[in-house]
Order: sequence, then structure tokens, then C-alpha cells
Amino acid sequence: MSNVYVSEHPLVQHKLSLLRDKDTDPRQFRELVKEIALLLAYEATADLKIAPVSVETPLATMQGGKVKETIGLVPILRAGLGLVNGVWEMMPSAEVWHIGLFRDEKTLRPVEYYNKLPVSPTVNVCLVLDPMLATGGSAVATVDILKKWGANRIKFMGLIAAPEGLERFTKAHPDVPVHLAAIDDHLNDRAYIVPGLGDAGDRQFGTA
Ligand code: URA
Repeated sequence: MSNVYVSEHPLVQHKLSLLRDKDTDPRQFRELVKEIALLLAYEATADLKIAPVSVETPLATMQGGKVKETIGLVPILRAGLGLVNGVWEMMPSAEVWHIGLFRDEKTLRPVEYYNKLPVSPTVNVCLVLDPMLATGGSAVATVDILKKWGANRIKFMGLIAAPEGLERFTKAHPDVPVHLAAIDDHLNDRAYIVPGLGDAGDRQFGTA
């Protein structure tokens, strides 16, 4: 699938295995989510544009580079929150805009209940954060919202995708690159990713 990038970094795979383990407690789980997010963000931001900048070292003046694009992080509530901390470690000036969606049980469509986007886009790149791309409904709806709002460069970053959700997302938004740590086997009849890691929100917040 073009535009889908699954990290092959050994540290990502190592940490993901620890994250999946049912005996990993919420504290360690949060730490691992943060660390994997940092590593995935490193890969997801590899194409950011840089501008030349003059730097005075103790020995000479030289031309370095600084990132010239601004980034907005868009965590989908609530499980996306844990990914923010990792990305922020590397990009502390990134703005964070929360999006909350729930699934209408009659229509089965995502309904927006919280939206902290500014009136108009203030950044060059939006990085949508959701650990589990399961059915793809929330991710598709969030990117729909961002596109209507006027965002012109959007990326999606998550931990694990189900093939079903990934197909739905890439069909709806083929222009949006997807950065992941793994693509798993399937969705079960309760829309959980198998083998997955269980409920990413409950495991982060200790609410299982
Ligand atoms: N959300 C989760 O937290 N886990 C899944 O497996 C699917 C959706």
C-alpha cells in the first residue's frame, strides 16, 4: 500500500512487544507509548522542510538548518493523548488541538463532541494521533474535519492498524501518509484489533 509506512526500527518493534504484553502495567504502558511515539515521529517528520540558519560555534560561523514548517498535533480523544507526550519531547513548540468523537450506535457514524481547532489553520503540517486504527471511522472523520477546515498537509500516526481500517482510511484519504509500528491480523466482532494490545485508552489510564 503506497503512503503507508510501518517502522522497521528494532527499538520500535522491541517496545511494541512490551506494550502488547497483557502484564504491562499502566505506568509502563504510558512510558512505552511515549517512547514509541517519539521514534515514529522521528520517521514521520523526515520530510519537513528546513531553512538555512547562520550559527556561531565557538570556532567559526557556519550555515546550519532549522525546521521552517510549523506542526499541529491532533490527538483523537482519549487514547491519542499518550502519543502527544512523545512527539512533544522532540517538538515542544507544536500546538495541540484535541478532537473528540463518539460512535452513534444507530447510524454507526462518528459524531464530533469536542473540537479545539483554532478558527483557521495556523500551522503547515497536521499530525493526527490515534494509537489504534481499528475500523478507521474516527481517523477518516478527523481528517475530513481537518480538510474542511483548510489543512493542506496532513499525516496520520498510530501504533497498530487492522487491515480493514487501513484500507478504509487509505481509500478515503489516499493523500495522507500513515505511519505505524505494526499492521495486525484482523478486527474481531467487537472491533478490537487482533492480536493488538487490548483497549489502548483503558491500558493508558488504568480504567480496564
Ligand atoms: N481501540 C483500541 O483501543 N483497541 C483496539 O483493539 C481497537 C480500538
